[in-house]
Amino acid sequence: MNIEKKVKEILKELPVGVELVAATKTRSIEEINQAIKAGVKIIGENYVQEAEEKFRVIGKKVKWHMIGHLQKNKVKKALEIFDMIETVDSTKLAREIDKISKKEGIVFPVLIEINSGKEEQKSGVLPENVESFVEEITKFENIKVEGLMTMGPFVKNPEEIKPYFELTRELFEKLKSKSYPNVEMKYLSMGMTDTWKIAIEEGANLVRIGTGIFGPRNPEPGSNRRGG
Ligand SMILES: *Cc1c(COP(=O)(O)O)cnc(C)c1O
Repeated sequence: MNIEKKVKEILKELPVGVELVAATKTRSIEEINQAIKAGVKIIGENYVQEAEEKFRVIGKKVKWHMIGHLQKNKVKKALEIFDMIETVDSTKLAREIDKISKKEGIVFPVLIEINSGKEEQKSGVLPENVESFVEEITKFENIKVEGLMTMGPFVKNPEEIKPYFELTRELFEKLKSKSYPNVEMKYLSMGMTDTWKIAIEEGANLVRIGTGIFGPRNPEPGSNRRGG
């Protein structure tokens, strides 16, 4: 896989206002640096420890987004590395991010992860609960909700993902119209290698692409997990 070529192809196809997040779980620093050289500005990582090792070498020349499930006990470390957490899905997690941000004197940007397929084994807030969830976490003054993120269910035919992106887009618009304090709906993070074009049609302005840049992944350690 020619990483630089792939990145450039994708960047050329992105409409103005849509940003690429390179999903870099399991990828080496060398691979990531090739992607950065070709124009990647945002790195998405799923595991705090893996991100930390890479962050130590690559540093702040790019933005770092947490795109995996975040455990409460890793929030402190996560806030040292990441510029945004895309996967807030519980009050408990929001409270912890708020608490540590307060100590640091910062206001931390987050996206709310939506479980748009209502899948039991997946993390994310259920669509019907998102409004009350946002209302609940607006009381945290040291986090700022900047949008929504969704994975959607695994589908065989990429077109089948559409209703889940549509649903997430509708929630995004609805929340936007409410003008809650500490909420500024700016980012809609949807779409991966097979589905990013559909996601953009449905309103995504952050797309998270891994294999489309770096080629097939090696099996992940504990490959039924996608966070930490
Ligand atoms: C791995 C991952 C991606 C990228 O998936 P690809 O199919 O490799 O493009 C996007 N989002 C999340 C949350 C991921 O974990």
